[in-house]
Amino acid sequence: MEIQEIVLKQKDFFKTQQTKNIKFRKLYLEKLRNLIIKNEDILYEAIHKDFGKSKFDTFTTEISFILNDIDYYLKSVKSLSKPKKVKTNFFNQIGKSRIHAEPLGNVLIVGTWNYPYQLSISPIVAALAAGNCCILKPSEIAENSMKAMSKIINENFPPEYLYVYEAGIDETTELLKLKFDKIFFTGSTKVGKIIYKAAAENLTPVTLELGGKSPAIISKKANLEVAAKRIVWGKFLNAGQTCVAPDYLLVEESIQELFLQLLKKYIKEFNYQADSDHYTNIINQKNFERLIKLIDKDKIYLGGNFNEKQLYIEPTILNNINWNDKVMQEEIFGPILPVISFTDFNLILNKVLEYEKPLAAYLFTDNSDEKENFINKLTFGGGCINEVIMHLGNENLPFGGVGNSGIGSYHGKFGFETFSHQKAVLEKVTWGEPNIKYPPYSDKKLSWIRRLI
Ligand code: NAD
Repeated sequence: MEIQEIVLKQKDFFKTQQTKNIKFRKLYLEKLRNLIIKNEDILYEAIHKDFGKSKFDTFTTEISFILNDIDYYLKSVKSLSKPKKVKTNFFNQIGKSRIHAEPLGNVLIVGTWNYPYQLSISPIVAALAAGNCCILKPSEIAENSMKAMSKIINENFPPEYLYVYEAGIDETTELLKLKFDKIFFTGSTKVGKIIYKAAAENLTPVTLELGGKSPAIISKKANLEVAAKRIVWGKFLNAGQTCVAPDYLLVEESIQELFLQLLKKYIKEFNYQADSDHYTNIINQKNFERLIKLIDKDKIYLGGNFNEKQLYIEPTILNNINWNDKVMQEEIFGPILPVISFTDFNLILNKVLEYEKPLAAYLFTDNSDEKENFINKLTFGGGCINEVIMHLGNENLPFGGVGNSGIGSYHGKFGFETFSHQKAVLEKVTWGEPNIKYPPYSDKKLSWIRRLI
């Protein structure tokens, strides 16, 4: 079947109203859950072929996320879908007011390659929980993961409800000409703008989950051991190919030397060798070459070695970096960690403010004034104090960017809202209404209205 036909079938299927039934939604969420568990090995194998991602990392950062999301919606889809009663104001008496969360209709999800399962299937889960029909266009760059998802889903779901479309850029460009009720995109800011423009042609609402340079600030008042350990884990997870990884470090000058040593200690301890099971490759040659060019040999504090055949780049720390260096001009998205030192906490926050709003920001400190300044002064999608990345793991927090790092959010109830329309309904009784709002108007009526307001 051609994709145009599938889109039309999804529109027709949505009109049958079946997806609005809570039992129907739960049935298919359960089905998806069972399919993922049944096919776990196929998913592990495919992602390992794509960029050497281990079973451990795939379970903790992809599969468990998705299963957790499904469980959350299985538990809460009924209450999330219930009409919410709200107060009715004086002028609308005697009446009742409610907000009905209703599905938007047929949704397009465009995924990316770095967490190919989590970033494709978690939005699907939220979209289905909210009662939509859905087409997923995964990233063709993680080709094996894309094929695994399409096999598992397309062989088990009716295409008029959920369909995975294996497509590259040309086909996606054509797909974007069709009308959807929502487009949910994860990827680069550059392609996010293309999606936004295409969506505007049909006035389609978008959620854009984009990237940026996410800073981590290390104050001298931090627990440095814990900071170093958590930063090394978060930065080199997925070989730095994580949208919320700390992109660069801002380290207070007086503790810089000590902190660099601690980073080195944990990098050695975590053993990120080319043949280690827990360190991934760079996804492809193009990204490998881009990353190698960001390594300024004169500024290497640790690492800097790579193996082109294996697409391996070892964890690399660049020291004495300044804001004009090449590595500070673009999102790194790889295992290279530039370090900039600072002496004044407030001035360094001002400097971060000169950059585009990042997807994440992190602060390590035990000082409450610094915590407060960090939160009040900086704008970022989401972040942590004394931790990195883990805010994503709390479904009670929205996940999304701001400014150049994105529009909208998801996870938990925020995902449900992202794929729903909030329909406002006022219901009035049919008796007892004063004549004051009806013509013919008079000064007396106006004066009464003024008094009532
Ligand atoms: P990308 O923007 O190149 O690709 C993302 C998707 O867009 C893919 O499915 C791709 O096929 C499609 N695409 C690419 N070019 C297109 C075009 N011209 N027209 C239509 N569709 C097109 O992104 P990427 O390189 O795969 O991912 C890296 C970026 O994604 C980084 O900036 C990273 O920070 C960001 N990211 C953000 C999140 C988040 O949740 N906010 C998560 C992961 C990655």
